[in-house]
Amino acid sequence: MPELPEVEVVRRGLERWIVGRTTAEVAVLHPRAVRRHVAGAADFAARLSGRRVLDARRRGKYLWLPLGDGPSGPASDDGDWALLAHLGMSGQLLVQPADAPDEKHLRVRVGFQDELHTELRFVDQRTFGGLSLHPLTEDGVPDAVAHIARDPLDPEFDEEGFHRALRARRTTVKRALLDQSLISGVGNIYADEALWRTGLHYDRPTAALTRPRVSELLAHVRAVMGEALAVGGTSFDSLYVNVNGESGYFDRSLDAYGREDEPCRRCGTPIRRRPWMNRSSYYCPRCQRPPRVRRPLAAG
Ligand SMILES: [Zn+2]
Repeated sequence: MPELPEVEVVRRGLERWIVGRTTAEVAVLHPRAVRRHVAGAADFAARLSGRRVLDARRRGKYLWLPLGDGPSGPASDDGDWALLAHLGMSGQLLVQPADAPDEKHLRVRVGFQDELHTELRFVDQRTFGGLSLHPLTEDGVPDAVAHIARDPLDPEFDEEGFHRALRARRTTVKRALLDQSLISGVGNIYADEALWRTGLHYDRPTAALTRPRVSELLAHVRAVMGEALAVGGTSFDSLYVNVNGESGYFDRSLDAYGREDEPCRRCGTPIRRRPWMNRSSYYCPRCQRPPRVRRPLAAG
């Protein structure tokens, strides 16, 4: 499953290869890929064609391309719209030469009105992801994304507000990191890595976290993501804009995630894995002490 750094790599690729171009013919090859576009596949294709791509934006794992009017005039009379992409488990956005053979799981093809001879392709084996068109809110965010909090790489992320929310909630630190209404884009892997670096157990109650501790945690979240971005970011220079969640980063430099029974790189204690909300949490039992369980006082 692609995480935020991989999605950011795709965004950069779209910025480089798609922004500024005007769409031509749009073909929906599998209706499931546009199921979030409630008006249907034909409406999707008609609305998207002949539009100028103004920008490539991202919040958390959502990507969108704000659309302007094409040379033939306004494509809609009801404000600004954007093409929203969610990659789901296996979605890919590819910029391919127009004469390249179709991918086996090609779902949507977007051509362009220029001489670059490349097209944008949405390929998705499992079709959990998809494309849809949405009006933009006043903040310039598609309405479907408006409830998602800013992500930690966003310069406008409100660290003070995040800390206040943590103090006010009866939740635990990893649950909070994965809560898209508090902070977006932090997946299971990055959460485990940042918690290991911070020396925090995933089940720590957030109400007890001090402001410096929260700052430290956020700094580690950003560092882990930044390192992944640096690795993934080396490939976006090519024409092939790709994301499949299998970043080389994951093989090389993970400290906690996926390392059950391997020695902690800080203290040598074997890393443990625990079932956690239908997933797993990996942690070092020595560097990341579990919270003490408060026992009810024995009666009389
Ligand atoms: Zn350790």
